[in-house]
Amino acid sequence: MIYNIPVTLIEQYRDHNLILRANRFDDITAHLSEGVLERLVHAQIHALQENAGELRPWKIGFPVDVVMREPSVEFPQLYRYAKLLGSHPVRVSIPVVPGFGKAAKLAISLHFAVKLLPGQPGAALIDEMLSLAELYLHQSTASQPIEFFQSVLLAYYHQQEASLWTIQDEDPAYQRYIAEDGRELIAPRFENVPAADDFVAAFAQELGREQRECAGCEFFALCKGYFKWPDRSYSCGGIQRVLQTLRDAANELRQDLESFPEEHHIS
Ligand code: SF4
Repeated sequence: MIYNIPVTLIEQYRDHNLILRANRFDDITAHLSEGVLERLVHAQIHALQENAGELRPWKIGFPVDVVMREPSVEFPQLYRYAKLLGSHPVRVSIPVVPGFGKAAKLAISLHFAVKLLPGQPGAALIDEMLSLAELYLHQSTASQPIEFFQSVLLAYYHQQEASLWTIQDEDPAYQRYIAEDGRELIAPRFENVPAADDFVAAFAQELGREQRECAGCEFFALCKGYFKWPDRSYSCGGIQRVLQTLRDAANELRQDLESFPEEHHIS
């Protein structure tokens, strides 16, 4: 199990695999020791608009996830965080809200990995996601992964089982989010929902029983109702176009590569 904890709770969770989060990079480095580093999955930096503190790369290049809240306002801060890239793997997590496309394109051009936090996007945001998917699939400027695109593409390419809940670090069977007050949650968007190992399976079963959109959805095996939270009546037509684009690209890639010798196949 991985616990995503505020750095202030480090003593309580010292023996677990950890994602450490703080508002500033130097809040993280102040709490690092050999024991913590052994269990550190990555560090998360929030509050990009606040004083970022010292952004000097640390002596050990642990992975860093820079989490945006308001990409339309925060995107210029990415230039400052780019100085970590020489010695740390750095990903930028971007909520799919107005302005996310501009932030994602800047992050890609600066060579950050990107993770999208899609929520339940409306039509205009879906169009921006599709345009970003096209960029990811067809332009060499995207040298780093864009999640969830990358994991979905690879799952369809290899014809392997995958779950969007796991890809997005929101499956409580594997990962828990510890709130500032110590409550164990699934993720911040599941405020007041206690984390339970079987949450994803139980939620997917409920959606199947309701015989609504999920029941006949061709992406259910991958998605398991991921986009039906928090509003179960959210219409998935747009998000299905995004998934379809990724699946078509994976199938096309596989067919193309099957006509080449094996050493050219991707892993
Ligand atoms: S894409 Fe929408 S309809 Fe399809 S499984 Fe996911 S949440 Fe359900």
